[in-house]
Order: sequence, then structure tokens, then C-alpha cells
Amino acid sequence: MEEENKEVKSFKDLGLREELVQACDRLGWQKPSKIQAEAIPFALEGKDVIGLAQTGSGKTGAFALPILQALLDYVNNPEPKKGRNPDPAFFACVLSPTRELAIQIAEQFEALGSDISLRCAVLVGGVDRIQQAIVLGKRPHVIVATPGRLWDHMSDTKGFSLRTLKYLVLDEADRLLNEDFEKSLDMILEEIPRERKTFLFSATMTKKVRKLQRACLRNPVKIEADSKYSTVETLKQQYRFVPAKYKDCYLVYMLSEISGSTSMVFTRTCDSTRFLALMLRNLGFRAIPISGQMTQSKRLGALNKFKAGECNILVCTDVASRGLDIPSVDAVINYDIPMNSKDYIHRVGRTARAGRSGVAISLLNQYELEWYLQIEKLIGKKLPEYAAEEEEVLSLLERVTEAKRLSQMKIKESGGKKRRKGGEDEGETERFLGTRDKKSSKKFKR
Ligand code: AMP
Repeated sequence: MEEENKEVKSFKDLGLREELVQACDRLGWQKPSKIQAEAIPFALEGKDVIGLAQTGSGKTGAFALPILQALLDYVNNPEPKKGRNPDPAFFACVLSPTRELAIQIAEQFEALGSDISLRCAVLVGGVDRIQQAIVLGKRPHVIVATPGRLWDHMSDTKGFSLRTLKYLVLDEADRLLNEDFEKSLDMILEEIPRERKTFLFSATMTKKVRKLQRACLRNPVKIEADSKYSTVETLKQQYRFVPAKYKDCYLVYMLSEISGSTSMVFTRTCDSTRFLALMLRNLGFRAIPISGQMTQSKRLGALNKFKAGECNILVCTDVASRGLDIPSVDAVINYDIPMNSKDYIHRVGRTARAGRSGVAISLLNQYELEWYLQIEKLIGKKLPEYAAEEEEVLSLLERVTEAKRLSQMKIKESGGKKRRKGGEDEGETERFLGTRDKKSSKKFKR
């Protein structure tokens, strides 16, 4: 949580029902975040809301709490003669661009709704559709879905429709608008009732988001939790210019300097997440890869290991840079500079949250300078250089080279095994990591 609001004292002041105030209390949310303080009163009034906010701002609570309040209001019909309304199914739907984010949103709904018997379903790709259809048969109040899978169910699953939908949330709308989702999103919007409330949350206001807003929302109230692309004060940002051939060596040096901290290492490709994680493990680091290439269960498994502290270095692509709720990351290392400078903001937003301090170090080589300059322009400042004696860094070269050789060999080997046995790629990696872990007795020391 980045920002807290000084004027609003409590969730109660926002007009939330006692059940929900208690739920926030149970979660340890002492007071509303800025986006919550500003969005919730309008949402409770029944307005459509556009929230410009990033993950970490508390935006999930900003849309979940008003939806839960509306659900409670609906069930406890205020007209006493009519009695209670029937338990409403498919009351709200949240669309998310990634499976992980969808799961996290559902977790927050469940946590906030645990005392009011909330039923919540997650519909994402990579998970058995029949299982999901069974869950839909239980008539959940809230559905959190990625657009493709939701549309699959809307078109195929018997007895399921969103005709009764009262609330639609488009979360991380800028990312929902990519080509993969465009078609399903259009079809979903065609199908659902026009008489509904819509909340749209986005980190950035692009042309496409504006178009979606015009098509989808009615007289919305616009709220900006963080209008500029800025990075928080408690974040120490640095860069280091390194020759491409020594990048790995610098990465190892930096990680050993902050050994024991939790870090996320960002790479550009899925293959390099796997390779780097293997290399780091060969050197005794507790690293784990996560990327879009992995199966859903492997991704969640990796994320859980990281969350539980079993591994303290998450090597990831941009898939993991947004939306994931990973508490207390001490450092973000950009092993590869993002080509899109807005991704830089999202990546480094994984650290220095909730007023804590954090570091973000970007490694850049001769080919990446152009992108780096774009980043400096976007954040509006020149960053200091990460200080390290090259000689000291290069004293690691031999061990790093050997660790890389081993990783290459293992990747080649597991590729061969996979071809021979038709086995699953990630599984081979995991098995190798398992054996390697036991053998590497000591933590890597310089
Ligand atoms: P979000 O931006 O919705 O992904 O939320 C980021 C994190 O902040 C989650 O772990 C939430 O549980 C937490 N959070 C949300 N609202 C509050 C609040 N008012 N006070 C403290 N933590 C919060």
C-alpha cells in the first residue's frame, strides 16, 4: 500500500456497513488508502468510477468493498414488506488480464467477504473447464475472470449467463485491451446488461482505455491515486552500465551484496528466467523462475514458494511485474531493461511499498542505452550509478562461467529427455533444481 489518506479517518466514515468495516479491521487495514477514500463514497452513491491507480494502491479494496456493500444491501432489502431478496447469483464480474491477478482479486474478495458467506469463482485459462462449470453451478456472487475463459463459459456452459449482472469491473484495463482479449471483451460487453454499474481501473490512461471508457461507463467519476508516473520517495534507484558479456557476473555480485533480502530479477524472455534461475541455484542462491511459459500450477507453485520465503529470488518476465501481490520485496533488479518505459514503473513498484524502503537496480549494456534514456525521461530524473569495483565483480567470473555452463548443460539435457519421454519441460527443471539444492551445501560466498 503506497498511500494513505490523511483526511478520512476510517472505513466507517466512508459509509461502509459494519460487517465490512470489521472485515477491513480483521485484515489489518487501519484506514482507507487514497484511492479507497476517494472512490468508495462515489461508488456507494451508485456512480461509475474510473480509477487511475496501480497495484499496491489498494485498488482491489476500492472496488470490492462497494460491490460487497451493494450485495448486502440487495440481500437485506430495505423494504420490510417485501422481505429479503433471494440470494443473487452472478452479481458482479471482475475482468483481469492475468490469471495470477484474477486469483489475487478473488482472494481479497473472499477475505473481505468471509463473514457474509460470499461465494466467489475464478475463471481463468489453464484450469479444467468442467471443474469451473461445477463451481458456476453453485451460483457464485462474484466472478473473477480473464476475458477469454469467461467468454468460453458464456458461450458454452449450460445454465450460465450474466443476465443478472449488476457490477462489472475492468481491472488493469490498459492490459485488458491487448489483441488477445479484444474479441472476447467485445462479445462479453455485448452480452451483459447495459443497466449496471461499471468500475474501470487502469495504471495508465491510453487512447484505447479512453475509448473503452466511452463505450462502457456512464458519467463516470474519475479518480487519480497517482496521476504522474512517479516512483515513491523511499525507493532508491540506481543503474549500472556493464558490457553485455559481464552482465551475469554483475547480477551475481549484486545479489550476493544483498544476500538474505527478497528480490525480483526481471528478464526479457521466458528462456532467460529459467536459465538465470538455474545459474543462480548452481551458485547456492535460492532462486526460482516464473514466466508465461510455465503451466498455471507451476506458476502458482513458484509464486507460493517465493511468498512463503522458501525461495528469496524470483526471476521473472513482465508477466510477473504487474498485478501480483507480493509483499515485502526488498530489491528489484532489472537484468534486462524493459523496452517499454512504463513497464519500468510497474517493475520497480514491486518494492518500497507501504512506506518501506527498497532498491531498484538496472543493469544496462551497450545495446540498451536508448531504452534506459526513455526511462529517465519518463521518471523525470537522472539516476545515480551503482557503485562496484569492476575488479571485485570480475573476481567472480570463473565461478559464474562454470555455473552458466552447468545450466546450459542441464537445459540441453532436460530438452533431450523431454523429447525422448514427452515429459514436461518445467518438471525436468524442477527435478534438477531439487537435486542441485541438496548438493549445494553452502550459500554462495564471494
Ligand atoms: P492492491 O493495490 O489492491 O493490489 O492492494 C495491495 C495490498 O494492499 C494488498 O495486500 C491489500 O491487502 C493491501 N491493502 C489494501 N487496502 C489496504 C488498506 N486500507 N490498508 C492496508 N493495506 C491495504
